[in-house]
Amino acid sequence: MSEEVKLAPIPDLGQRTDEITIYAGPCSVESAEQFNEVAECIADLGLTWIRGGAFKPRTNPHSFQGLGEEALKIMKSAGDTYGLKTLTEVMDSAHCQLVADYVDGLQVGARNFQNFSLLKKIGEVTADSHQMVLYKRGFAGTIAEWLAATDYITDHGNTNVVLCERGIRTFEAATRFTLDIAAVPVIHKQSLYPVCIDVSHPAGQRDLVPSLAKAAIAAGADSLMIEVHPNPPVALSDGPQQLTPAQFRELVAELRELAAVLGKKIV
Ligand code: PEP
Ligand code: MN
Repeated sequence: MSEEVKLAPIPDLGQRTDEITIYAGPCSVESAEQFNEVAECIADLGLTWIRGGAFKPRTNPHSFQGLGEEALKIMKSAGDTYGLKTLTEVMDSAHCQLVADYVDGLQVGARNFQNFSLLKKIGEVTADSHQMVLYKRGFAGTIAEWLAATDYITDHGNTNVVLCERGIRTFEAATRFTLDIAAVPVIHKQSLYPVCIDVSHPAGQRDLVPSLAKAAIAAGADSLMIEVHPNPPVALSDGPQQLTPAQFRELVAELRELAAVLGKKIV
């Protein structure tokens, strides 16, 4: 008779904290009116962060590039008015200090995944402030490369880094990118960093966003990124994937129910 093989119990890789943070907001900051409308909705839902693009990494140089410093001013003012923390992408080492002066969190976009001089500069600029750095995975970056490069940011002393999975390139063309949901437990197993799932950029279409958001929570994500625009058909970037404030409200209500089942709350 064969002896029973004793396997170690499977640890729960999903449970980090009882809070799931949502980083919601428009793809691009387009005007004070546009941004404030989303800020009002987010604050009314009792959430804590708003995102928005000031410097946009556009594939085509003739597409809208973002309002730059004007957008940072709009974000700061909305953050103060509505009591929200602000998150925006920094694309250029020369802008790190400027961006850090206006917002609470700095985002590294997928297209700068291996821009090591930018990662180092962000680490230097946030060394004392310990501002949150949301570091997105590149389209073709492995998790090992991602974790290794995170040290470029943290080597200066700021370990307040959130790793954001936003979809990778595969043969599949039905979605804009393929969401690697397994990145959540893999990163939880290999590091102490919180994992954010950006559900908008892999979806590419707003009707897929709720399913991906629920999957992210079920997989144990620490935070979600969701793009929200007051009038998506006229958005200057990523219109098809952005939710309206009404759709976002409905989704947050559903996500709150799901989070409660797991003993978590959405903030
Ligand atoms: C964004 O967050 O709007 C963005 C450009 O994301 P990514 O770098 O993941 O494409
Ligand atoms: Mn976008």
